[in-house]
Amino acid sequence: MSISQFLPLRNDLLHEEPYGAPQLDVTACLNVNENPYSLDEDVAKDIAQEILAIAPTLNRYPDRDHTALREDLAKYLREESGVEVEYENVWAANGSNEIMLQLFQAFGGPGRIALSADPTYSMYPEYARDTFTQWKTVERNSDFSINIEKFIAAVEEEKPSLIVLTSPNNPTGTLLDNADIARILQATQNVEVAGSIQSAHPLVVIDEAYAEFRDPQVPSALELLEHYPNIAISRTMSKAFAFAGVRLGYLAAHPDVIQCMQIVRLPYHLSALTQAAARVALRHTKEQLAQVAHLRQLREDTQEWLSQQTYKGHTLHVAPSQSNFVLFGGDFDNRDRIFSLLVERGVLIRVVGPQGWLRVCMGTDEEMALFRKSLLEVLRIVENEN
Ligand SMILES: *Cc1c(COP(=O)(O)O)cnc(C)c1O
Repeated sequence: MSISQFLPLRNDLLHEEPYGAPQLDVTACLNVNENPYSLDEDVAKDIAQEILAIAPTLNRYPDRDHTALREDLAKYLREESGVEVEYENVWAANGSNEIMLQLFQAFGGPGRIALSADPTYSMYPEYARDTFTQWKTVERNSDFSINIEKFIAAVEEEKPSLIVLTSPNNPTGTLLDNADIARILQATQNVEVAGSIQSAHPLVVIDEAYAEFRDPQVPSALELLEHYPNIAISRTMSKAFAFAGVRLGYLAAHPDVIQCMQIVRLPYHLSALTQAAARVALRHTKEQLAQVAHLRQLREDTQEWLSQQTYKGHTLHVAPSQSNFVLFGGDFDNRDRIFSLLVERGVLIRVVGPQGWLRVCMGTDEEMALFRKSLLEVLRIVENEN
């Protein structure tokens, strides 16, 4: 992008591109990890009625503290994870992207470091950039798990104010065990944050955007909340909850963390429409999550199918996923070509993660059938090209 010469854009942004996956009109949209199923008709009607009911009051600003919504989200988390969470522990914003930005605004900043494990979600470095926080990462193992000793050594060395870990991780689908998170939290108790008041320890943020897709017996990091005041768990209604269009993300943490978020949030950041729509959807949790078990099964089937396919004489690598997407390939020598040939067949996946890998998210059964058929065609074409 060539930046206009007459605008005083920040020098560090002069060569930056806007973030975002392609938005193309295709048959199978498998690139941004949404729930592919549209809303139940009765739920949609309920939302419309609620919006109609509050429309006359839109001359007023919304509840700045979105108290009723936070009560509902706390109830949802209690039911979803069996963990005692109250309204004081919860904070919501326009997508977990805004939650993350607020975390960086409150706890990052000049002279501060945020530490993560690569490969991971590519938006994190942008929140760091936008808040003048230094972004540092530890390389994951070749199977995308985290070497905990190495990570803890980096925490002790860097003394970050923020530790950001994603579980299940995007784009790899890798789960991080609560025992490992607990070891990191334990280590933070002896680490004082660089550039902070002396008594402060790193805040450990666990991004659980895909938590509802994990296998049923797997605990959420929410279980660590009662043991550590410096953990914060980020969730979203964008993925499993099938509500990406509304933009609603939320955080569960110690009430003091929530108070820090209130300092940096914009006034009335969550519109009355957003709050109302989210509350109706939370009344219909069962319908909103109705397809999650099916999508989980589809993930298992897709992983198995992919691992049986061949490219240039050997089977595809598949990263074990606890999410609604699968990272596959591992040694594609021309992943952009594979991606483009799939788009020509109406299948949009994502070029993301380390070189040689591609990511596909779970769609409807019809979309997945088209994905399989098209991928087989494309792999045979690319094999014969070089
Ligand atoms: C998709 C995603 C989010 C969700 O973003 P929203 O702003 O809530 O839509 C957050 N974290 C990760 C790792 C994601 O992949």
